[in-house]
Amino acid sequence: MKMETKLGKVWLAGAGPGDAGLLTVKTKELMERADVIVYDALIGVEVLCQFPAGKELVFVGKRAERHAVEQEEINRVLVEKAKEGKNVLRLKGGDPFVFGRGGEELERLVQEGIPFEIVPGVTSVTAVLAYAGIPLTHRDYVSSFHVITAHPRKDGDSRIDYPSLVKTGGTLVFLMGLSRLEEICGGLLRAGMRADMPAAVLERGTCVGQRAVVSDVVHLPARAGEAKVKAPAVVVVGEACSLAEKLSWAEKRCLGGRQFIVTRPKRQGEDLARRLRALGAQVLEVPAIRMVPVRLDEAFKKSVGRFARQEGEAWLVFTSPAGVRTFFTEMLEQGMDMRDIFRRKAEVKLAVIGSATRDALREYGLVADLVPPVYDSENLGKTLAWAARPGSEILAARAARGSKELLPPLENAGFKVTDLALYETKLQDHEWCKEEVLAAFRAGDVDGVIFTSASTVRGFAHEFLEGHARTFGAGRQTAREALTLCTGGQTAREALTLCAGGQTAREALALGIGREAACEALALCIGEQTAREAGKYGMETMVAKEASMDAVVEMVCERFGKR
Ligand code: SAH
Repeated sequence: MKMETKLGKVWLAGAGPGDAGLLTVKTKELMERADVIVYDALIGVEVLCQFPAGKELVFVGKRAERHAVEQEEINRVLVEKAKEGKNVLRLKGGDPFVFGRGGEELERLVQEGIPFEIVPGVTSVTAVLAYAGIPLTHRDYVSSFHVITAHPRKDGDSRIDYPSLVKTGGTLVFLMGLSRLEEICGGLLRAGMRADMPAAVLERGTCVGQRAVVSDVVHLPARAGEAKVKAPAVVVVGEACSLAEKLSWAEKRCLGGRQFIVTRPKRQGEDLARRLRALGAQVLEVPAIRMVPVRLDEAFKKSVGRFARQEGEAWLVFTSPAGVRTFFTEMLEQGMDMRDIFRRKAEVKLAVIGSATRDALREYGLVADLVPPVYDSENLGKTLAWAARPGSEILAARAARGSKELLPPLENAGFKVTDLALYETKLQDHEWCKEEVLAAFRAGDVDGVIFTSASTVRGFAHEFLEGHARTFGAGRQTAREALTLCTGGQTAREALTLCAGGQTAREALALGIGREAACEALALCIGEQTAREAGKYGMETMVAKEASMDAVVEMVCERFGKR
């Protein structure tokens, strides 16, 4: 008997105008929960990067050289996925019902009997104006606002009733109006609007690099032309535009107009991203690595059990928050709890690499006995070698293939160390947002990439730096020549790997490999070890005063912050 597949459901949701902070709580939750996300080109890159890895993604927008997917095709995809029993998030820029053709998609779902919900979004109509300091209404000037599309209708009719619009005396907001700016301003003037009526074009509102060209209806087209304003942009006409300068605020924030890439694994990266956003930056969360727990079973039980049965002093060493969490989760999974460690014979002490790991331990009600003065593996090893009583048992619970610098100082001092691998760091790919992230680099829109470990550097390089030789390289010679020189005809990816390893990457870069884009960005590093790794890829580096998130944020503010 053929089993009936349960019908899925479609959520038609708005993603807001670009700033990820303007995603609604509901849409953000749906992004996590949906099986499939069907999205178009207007989704801001900051939001795009937040799509959870591993989702089924269907892009239905327009991309360079490719036509937009026909509306009928989009409708078909939604129906098909829902009929497969999937929960579908249909994500649109701004609000789905503001010139978003949301209605058409829903009519089709109704026809097919597919359940749906609508999740309104923050529309560019209000948000882009707000971020430019232009009140949509103002008691002294205007008592209504009107939103007009300048895009022709299906039947080609694009007549806008200018006389009626002028008569309202309200704020006029034109979407999709940039290419018809002259026509719009001319139409309004011919319909009797005063020539010095304030007007503005707002480009890329709420996002990094947002720009406002403020003028009057007569001069706006020329001014916008001079400024080379590009889509997406909103055209606003009305008295309130005169307040733009006085009320501007977005660019004035400490990190306003700045964009950073955070490469930390998701959970910890979110926290750093939040802090930078609170200071006004746009942050692309591009976790370069992810933690995958190692299957431990008996091995774990054995080493932890043996550890706790020691006489005398025994040190438990953690080198990352992920290590702390994995350790205690694994204990529970193995049917153990804290008492299995702390109630035994050994006098168990705790050593951590730095403040983040110390804080992770505090979440379990444990206070670290030792934090090295400088937060890195080498210093942890040295400090512990000095502090531990001779003969102490040491269990380092950390990543597989963790830093090589932790153990030698301890072993040289005669300690017996068990290196317990709890999780592996795997590279995280970013297929769905890679092009957009690279485009941001090429446009010079990325001020810095934040690295919190050598492995995040390697992950980032793997994803964004290698393979570039194919596209770039008009440095001293062409990339092709450079490749021949370096590798004798291997692929670009290999070439860069070879160069970054064998020779210094700087030399490779001088030859024209992988220069431009991502390599040009400043590497904002948590410590020296991380910076050395970034240096291998030819990146300019900066190092935080100490290896903590506070110090990283402080470094970013010192370098980029407005006072
Ligand atoms: N549903 C969307 C609008 C879709 S029509 C919403 O509610 O915002 C697309 C138009 O929206 C663009 O041509 C532009 O006029 C405007 N727009 C969308 N996002 C914008 C942004 N970040 N900055 C400026 N204009 C934007």
